[in-house]
Amino acid sequence: MSVAHILGFPRIGARRELKMAVEAYWKKALDKATLNETARDLRKRHWALQKAAGLDFVTVGDFAFYDHLHNVTALVSAAPKRFAFDAPVDLDGYFAMARGTPAQPALAMKKWFDTNYHYLVPEIGAETRFTLNREWLLPEVREAQALGHKVKVVLPGPLTWLWLASAEPGFDKLKLVGVLLNVYWALFGEMKALGVEWVQLDEPILSLDLPVQWLNAYPAVYRELASAGPSLLLASYFGSVAEHAPMLKDLAVAGVHLDLVRAPQQLDAFLANWPEDKVLSLGVVDGRNLWRTDLARALSVLHPAKKVLGDRLWISASCSLLHVPTDLSLEKKLDPEIRGWMAFATQKLDEIATLKGAVHEGEAVVWRALQEASAAVESRKHAPATRREPVRAGVAALTERSAQRGAPFAERIRQQQEVLKLPPLPTTTIGSFPQTAEIRAARAAFKAGKSSAEEYESAMKSAIREAVTRQEALGLDVLVHGEAERNDMVEYFGELMDGYVFTENGWVQSYGSRCVKPPVIYGDVSRPRAMTVEWARYAQSLTSKPMKGMLSGPITMLFWSFVRDDLPRSEVAMQLALALRQEVCDLEAAGIKVIQIDEPAIREGLPLKKAAWQGYLDWAVRAFQVTASGVRTNTQIHTHMCYSEFNDILPSIAAMDADVITIETSRSRMKLLDAFADFKYPNDIGPGVYDIHSPRVPPREEMTEMLQRALSVVPAARLWVNPDCGLKTRGWPETEAALAAMVASARELRAGLN
Ligand code: GLN
Ligand code: ZN
Repeated sequence: MSVAHILGFPRIGARRELKMAVEAYWKKALDKATLNETARDLRKRHWALQKAAGLDFVTVGDFAFYDHLHNVTALVSAAPKRFAFDAPVDLDGYFAMARGTPAQPALAMKKWFDTNYHYLVPEIGAETRFTLNREWLLPEVREAQALGHKVKVVLPGPLTWLWLASAEPGFDKLKLVGVLLNVYWALFGEMKALGVEWVQLDEPILSLDLPVQWLNAYPAVYRELASAGPSLLLASYFGSVAEHAPMLKDLAVAGVHLDLVRAPQQLDAFLANWPEDKVLSLGVVDGRNLWRTDLARALSVLHPAKKVLGDRLWISASCSLLHVPTDLSLEKKLDPEIRGWMAFATQKLDEIATLKGAVHEGEAVVWRALQEASAAVESRKHAPATRREPVRAGVAALTERSAQRGAPFAERIRQQQEVLKLPPLPTTTIGSFPQTAEIRAARAAFKAGKSSAEEYESAMKSAIREAVTRQEALGLDVLVHGEAERNDMVEYFGELMDGYVFTENGWVQSYGSRCVKPPVIYGDVSRPRAMTVEWARYAQSLTSKPMKGMLSGPITMLFWSFVRDDLPRSEVAMQLALALRQEVCDLEAAGIKVIQIDEPAIREGLPLKKAAWQGYLDWAVRAFQVTASGVRTNTQIHTHMCYSEFNDILPSIAAMDADVITIETSRSRMKLLDAFADFKYPNDIGPGVYDIHSPRVPPREEMTEMLQRALSVVPAARLWVNPDCGLKTRGWPETEAALAAMVASARELRAGLN
């Protein structure tokens, strides 16, 4: 039987119902029964959508109160000992591990492959035992069946779960696979008893550079699992698994899923001699972006595949739809033409069903849907905003010179020092200061039309004035305006640039109850007018100290948005770079002598396979350089990044050639020291001396110790003193106390240098 299906549906609800309910439950404003009812309603609605669209299964197991990997942790009873649960993990235990308790910090959180979703890292070790917790997953299967649905169950595969877990260094996680399998096996037995025919096991780690012992584990693991009863569909996604084609063809599964959006070229390796007894599920609808599928193009892949596979061809989205917003029909304010180019999760269900209709029953049956899809493709292709010649010409005119400062660093820093006259170990902050209740109220009132532009401007100016006064009193050397006017570092700039649109309800889950609404880049990007200059000019007018201009970099703008899929990302990055370069030049022209270009997301773009890293880093670095290189050599360019895993990309970060880089360090000082032992960073650097994620005010001695360690690997003349990151989530009292200690610490060390 041929099948149309999805790997998973977004769980949060079109209006973020799950977030609201979960947060209310945490605040004890909602009882458990009501929370469960909300969850049941959401599942019911999402299954009904799948059925109504004409999919052959509803997918069960994609729902999670916090995170699907964490669901497995509860399902196999793998709570770390430190939580000391004496009973099977229930909902409160599940949340306790996710959020921490007064006695225990939460499980760590990590990015789910190269997406902006974060999973909770299981903690395992020699003492880990697994048992099946029947309170998880099985009730949802029964729930779907009771609603009359034909169910395909999904859960992360055992090898992916183990691979993503953390363990003591030296512990071989694969040792646990046997005992873990017993639990999966028992679970599948129960599924079989319930009449479940198909179980989808997600093994996205197959797209990574996997060590051979892990690859070698697959055949035996799946042989064992297959003996439990239900037919198994092994789902790969986020990249090519072509090099594993021989292994996957032999695997004891009933089918394999491929991501043909990320890795279309892998199909041939699978179509050749695909076993007669296996289905092949082809993900041709993009599960990670909100654009409507070019159905004709998808069919040009599916029709030939059907000739080979017949009814063994299954049709799906590339990966779970978790990464796209739920329902486009809630978007009432989008430009109707641009809206017509989009498909959210709900609309993607119809696309998948249409494709199945076209392949298995003939295009005539779904001619209207096909026609609408090609009309959307045409409209997009010819829309003036998707191709604006001045932008294209500007990018084409960039040369090697546009991506290079006018002098080497040593010469630049000498000139900059003549202008800035900073003391050794200069102190600064990363940009934002506390977003106070007054600031947020002023913005809300302005957005709601309850106050005038003049009132808003004067509220922001008074916040800037306050920030400047406080920084002067603290004795900081390079000041910032405090970013009061910015709701968000990407949205703020997106709203001021052409080529962006914003949705009302385009929420996607980032982690737990946190959702983000990424801006959408739909057309050629440019900057109609200056975006930050007036605020910076005003701030500089209040002080004789250097005021740092502040903007988000091209790579961060790219990775925290939904990006058009009709242009290579590298080109979109270059358009962003060009627009931001103009802003940097305008800041300089307005008398700003220090300009910071934030790139906290640069690591997020790293491809899953190491072999592809350099290609990405090359264009990412070039985009930064284009942004930074339009200014005179005596204008000082800073950048900022908020992670400390530098070791593996340090040469590229050095190649960005910012005059000063400030980075998060304080939570993992050793890592930074390692990095600098191996690679001497050539320019100025400010390793963060305190963690801004907590209200704790670190004592001066702690910062001094941090700085002393830094001085052992960075020459004093290259070292800056600053916190880890921006301070917008902090209050003023702890901010002032911490910065006072930081300045005192810098002064103390400075005295010692002379
Ligand atoms: N300049 C920004 C701020 O201070 C940087 C934020 C970030 O690194 N994520 O808020
Ligand atoms: Zn940061």
